[in-house]
Amino acid sequence: MHRRRRTRIIATLGPASSTFEMIKKLSEAGADVFRLNMSHGTHAEASNLYSTVREVEKETGRPIGILADLQGPKLRVGAFAAEKILLEKGQQFVLDMDGAPGDEARVELPHPEIYQAVEPKTELLLNDGKIRLLIDKVEESKITTTVQVGGELSDRKGVNVPSAILPLAALTEKDKKDLNFALGLGVDWVALSFVQRSKDLVEARDIIKGRAAIMAKIEKPSAVHAIDEIIALSDGVMVARGDMGVELPMEMVPAKQKKIIRHARRAGIPAVVATQMLESMISAPVPTRAEVSDVANAVFDGADAIMLSAESAAGEYPEEAVAAMNRIAKSIEDEPSYRRQLSKDIATPEATTADAISAAAKQVATTIEAQAIVTYTGSGSTALRASRERPETPLLVLSPNIGTARRLAMVWGLNCVYSQDAVNFQDMIDKACNICYEYGYAKVNERIVIMAGMPFGTPGKTNVLRISRVQDYHINI
Ligand code: PEP
Repeated sequence: MHRRRRTRIIATLGPASSTFEMIKKLSEAGADVFRLNMSHGTHAEASNLYSTVREVEKETGRPIGILADLQGPKLRVGAFAAEKILLEKGQQFVLDMDGAPGDEARVELPHPEIYQAVEPKTELLLNDGKIRLLIDKVEESKITTTVQVGGELSDRKGVNVPSAILPLAALTEKDKKDLNFALGLGVDWVALSFVQRSKDLVEARDIIKGRAAIMAKIEKPSAVHAIDEIIALSDGVMVARGDMGVELPMEMVPAKQKKIIRHARRAGIPAVVATQMLESMISAPVPTRAEVSDVANAVFDGADAIMLSAESAAGEYPEEAVAAMNRIAKSIEDEPSYRRQLSKDIATPEATTADAISAAAKQVATTIEAQAIVTYTGSGSTALRASRERPETPLLVLSPNIGTARRLAMVWGLNCVYSQDAVNFQDMIDKACNICYEYGYAKVNERIVIMAGMPFGTPGKTNVLRISRVQDYHINI
């Protein structure tokens, strides 16, 4: 089941997509990575989803990535005596540390960190940004505000403080429990929500210790601001447009999306575009024209992966949503203008052998019209550099490390095969030719380009570029 599509598809799993049959259908329709959303569901449910994906992987033979998305420090108001209230523009409203049920005049805000981080004139956004409060006065455990935009407010709605960096730990107690659990399952990627600054990544790295790749969700203005420092400490970034559209004026999100993708591509780490990509497909079998255009634009931007949330987790048409993404991405990738757009943003190679060989492999493959570029990789770092070049020639990654193959399922253009490392130079050629033939990349007499490192099995040693021709004997190895 090898794909010519380069942009990867992430499908969030949930009640609409929890059976073996459905996950297999989503995989066949085009999903490359599955996301477990730790904000919802129990550990037992996540564990079932994890093992079902692994069963599907066994059946399809294609390494599948699994991403555990941690909830992060989501701020919320407390409960109301009447469950909900109506706030009027111009009225005063108080947030405090008193656990008593709230009313039209006040409600609990049980996050002491906020009281230290805000000041008069700071804006607080409630209920997905629908309600706006301007702070008049801050006391030790009481914030007095004036309602700028009113509306209905009910129990435990979210609170955003876009302009402040809050002294919150990157991982809440719930996140730590979820993280330990997810690492125990063996997830390939962990996504951190509400990353505010690069220090948050340092804390997470200390705990994760290389057991999974780390994806920083960019949703806070402070994270957009510090994007390069965050990218330097992350293995991937996600443009989390849901909360970003609350924390920033919505009309700024498209430009931030382009900026984040551009910076991630320059660094050679995958960038994911997420949220509301095919939102109407939660309840309709076809997307709107505007949604098609949004997905297409993320592909044009050169995103590594595009993500479905509720569409695949809780919608009525999960398979149709994956299939629609697959069709849109393929259709754009066939456009000559896609190639032109993509090549504009390819960063120059850095002064390393891996970059020099990746750039050379792309050029050689184009010149001789090779059918594939084959990369041997242990840690995945060479494959990431090869993807960064965005070659037109298909990229095939051979790795003896299943964890690497699964992580790389997130990355633009990388088709991973779990395979033993080469034992000598001839074996390197024979394995690559055989797999290219077997997976339909090259026929007998056609040429491929191979990148590898010698001595074999030594990480960070990419130093070989070889052109080989598939021979008759390669078919039966
Ligand atoms: C988002 O906010 O866009 C996002 C992806 O995060 P979540 O789905 O966890 O809210």
